[in-house]
Amino acid sequence: MKVLKFGGTSLGDAGRMKNVAEIVSRQGRVVVVLSAIAGTTDSLVKIAEAYKHGELNQVKSIVEVLLKHYQRYVDNLFEQESNKQTAMTFVESQFAELVEANIETATSAIEFHILAKGEVISTELFALYCEENGLNAKLLYSLDFLRLTQENSPDEAYLSEHLNRILTGHENTDIFVAQGFICRNAFGEVSNLKRGGSDYSASLFGAAINAQEVQIWTDIDGMHNNDPRFVKNTTPIRELSFDEAAELAYFGAKILHPSSIKPARRKNIPVRLLNTLQPDATGTLISSESNNANIKAVAAKSGITAIKIRSSEMLQAPGFLRRVFEVFELYHTSIDVITTSEVAVSVTIDDTTYLESIVKTLNEFGNVDVDENLSIICVVGDFVAESTGIASRVIRALEAFPIRMISYGGSAHNITLLISEDVRVKALQALHEGLFDV
Ligand code: ASP
Ligand code: MG
Repeated sequence: MKVLKFGGTSLGDAGRMKNVAEIVSRQGRVVVVLSAIAGTTDSLVKIAEAYKHGELNQVKSIVEVLLKHYQRYVDNLFEQESNKQTAMTFVESQFAELVEANIETATSAIEFHILAKGEVISTELFALYCEENGLNAKLLYSLDFLRLTQENSPDEAYLSEHLNRILTGHENTDIFVAQGFICRNAFGEVSNLKRGGSDYSASLFGAAINAQEVQIWTDIDGMHNNDPRFVKNTTPIRELSFDEAAELAYFGAKILHPSSIKPARRKNIPVRLLNTLQPDATGTLISSESNNANIKAVAAKSGITAIKIRSSEMLQAPGFLRRVFEVFELYHTSIDVITTSEVAVSVTIDDTTYLESIVKTLNEFGNVDVDENLSIICVVGDFVAESTGIASRVIRALEAFPIRMISYGGSAHNITLLISEDVRVKALQALHEGLFDV
């Protein structure tokens, strides 16, 4: 069995949803994971904000716009009048409690409850469309099998048990349709896997059922070797290892949710990135194999803060780094890049929620400098195969840019550099010219 995930833009209008059904119908027995229709989750975020502040007029006016949008969508999607009506009645029922301001759930869960509606609606419409077109589909409810542990990570044992039981209970079903993104928390309330989390759902479902393959369908032909928004002549990467893909997803390639590689990698399930607009194009295959292509791709991540701790105490003092890292652990802040010298250590973080407390605590160890508005540039590839010359090619390409940190050798497939945010785009372009044949 395969798991196929389609993002919001792949469902952007009724024609595109029909196209998704066409793609799905050619793949045998599958689990289809859908995001909300493009734009819906953003609107729901606004609705949740307004709802929490008691701005009911605001809620009503956003809902009105959404309802108009869905009316058009539904009119174009279905042939039969009765299905148009069933679909619209369902959509309206989802929004009724919002405009009437009578959501029956804990205040803390209201936002999650509202955000879940996007995926609930897209899957309902898709399942009904399959039915109208004679496809043998069954709508599942992800809240029945995806829940978080007390530590807020997906409960994979629970998922595997419940999802497999449902699938074996419906042996004659070809297409299972499930919501991406949404789940329950450890207390049973509606929750989610954070924005963009549908990829993660798909990978979790794939791992839970030992899928043959997980396909992530978007509207670009796979992961590119540089950011196509800023750099001309980027090309799709045919093959990536799980590690390379994880680095790229984490450090900026927007096409894939960073956590989504983990479950698939653990079960060694290949992940294919495909394009709904060109269903027959090769896309990118992510698997345990790595083809020795040296430098494969470049990505950048903005909004980085660097913290340098200088201390004479550090000189030959075992345990100094542990004490530094413990400060970050204490404040639930993860470190991305680290470089050290004998008397100083520099680290980067992207979450500055606890920056002030972190700096205050670190001040007890030595001098602390904080640099903001930085970008991480990540160069990814298979660097064991060609052991010479890689770092020099990267540094040569960036010769005109001041580099704040360089990290090389942490793994065999990335070089990470820290530069000022102001030169991020220029640095990406310079690397593209210097590293790839363009
Ligand atoms: N609909 C959710 C979002 O917009 C989840 C997803 O698209 O993956 O973030
Ligand atoms: Mg998405």
